[in-house]
Amino acid sequence: MAEETIFSKIIRREIPADIVYQDDLVTAFRDINPRAPSHMLIIPNKLIPTVNDIEADDEAAMGRMFTVARKLAEEEGIAENGYRLIMNCNNHGGQEVYHIHMHLLGGRPLGPLLLG
Ligand code: 5GP
Repeated sequence: MAEETIFSKIIRREIPADIVYQDDLVTAFRDINPRAPSHMLIIPNKLIPTVNDIEADDEAAMGRMFTVARKLAEEEGIAENGYRLIMNCNNHGGQEVYHIHMHLLGGRPLGPLLLG
């Protein structure tokens, strides 16, 4: 069994977070250390440590992450100008929290692909 991270506590609302969306499959909240004017994390409620651990049964949650990203971008007013979705995997990908999460970043020109 994978070890829980702080994100499981956020999903269960055991620690404070600025939750912007939650349903049966996913939760979205603002990043504690925003790297852009809009920086949110969209995560599956189920603990999946890395993208390498995604299984066919997880496809509904993975799809929901994208539809929620689209909805949040619209609500945030960044859909038309554009934004970036990022998922980091393991050490070389720069993953710090081992509960998969999609970064939604926008609100300013983000420049070339890598965040640096
Ligand atoms: P990673 O580097 O794993 O792709 O990104 C992890 C992200 O989670 C970072 O952007 C970091 O700021 C954010 N983060 C880590 N701990 C917390 C927390 O307790 N609350 C919130 N809202 N964001 C967190």
